[in-house]
Amino acid sequence: MKKTRLITLFTVIVSVTVLSVGMAMALSLNQETEKEKRTVENYKRDEMPNGIIKNKPENELTKVLFIRYAPDVKMVCDNDNVCEKKENPKSCPNDCKQGGDKDQITNSCYDFLSKSKSKWNWTEDYYYETGLEYSNNSVTKWNNAAQTMIFGDGNNEDNLDWGVYDNKNSISLGNYPEEGVLGVTAVWYQGKNIYEYDILFDTDYFPFGSHDLDTVILHEFGHAAGMGDLYDTTCISEVMYGYLGEGEVKTDLTDNDITGIKKLYK
Ligand SMILES: [Zn+2]
Repeated sequence: MKKTRLITLFTVIVSVTVLSVGMAMALSLNQETEKEKRTVENYKRDEMPNGIIKNKPENELTKVLFIRYAPDVKMVCDNDNVCEKKENPKSCPNDCKQGGDKDQITNSCYDFLSKSKSKWNWTEDYYYETGLEYSNNSVTKWNNAAQTMIFGDGNNEDNLDWGVYDNKNSISLGNYPEEGVLGVTAVWYQGKNIYEYDILFDTDYFPFGSHDLDTVILHEFGHAAGMGDLYDTTCISEVMYGYLGEGEVKTDLTDNDITGIKKLYK
């Protein structure tokens, strides 16, 4: 009797152990396959692949503002001996000497946000205010051109904060204090990574006015992806050209826009 009980107890212990080990193995195997299936594009901000810290504090990042002006308030040379992005050797010979320190490659109609080619190395959703639904089309166009998921899903949400580093990529309407601004995109980046972008469309012009909102949305998302402005007039037909005239519509990326984004995300 005693011996039988012992054997039963032993059998139970062994069975439970085998079962638990088996389950644990199955579970870890499952996690392993899950991990393998994921590419860097699938990661959200708080679950990162090795070595990349997504939640960087703002003081470690560079914040840049890309401002798109209406042409009637086109910025002219400020003659301060610094060749700025809005200036070029043809229009501003004092500031931009031919072959000078200008970092825009003037013979190819695309430019990047930074010399280290900062871009999105993971995919994040974005939030757009009512009336800015074209954001979804813009995102599809840039994602398709780059052949990768630069941007995640769009969610409609109102009362967004522009220019605030809050782990939320926002697309909103608001009044930018400077005159003649169509749109402005703030991008936070460091090294090869972009951490956040916020896009604002000025209520002086949008949603109802003389300039095409969809065209400006497509342009601003180019900045959000890591593309820079073009100010050389030879690049006037590109979506990333820095000015937009009244009634001008550019809702398709040009070959140069596509070449640029492909180079960035290759
Ligand atoms: Zn721009």
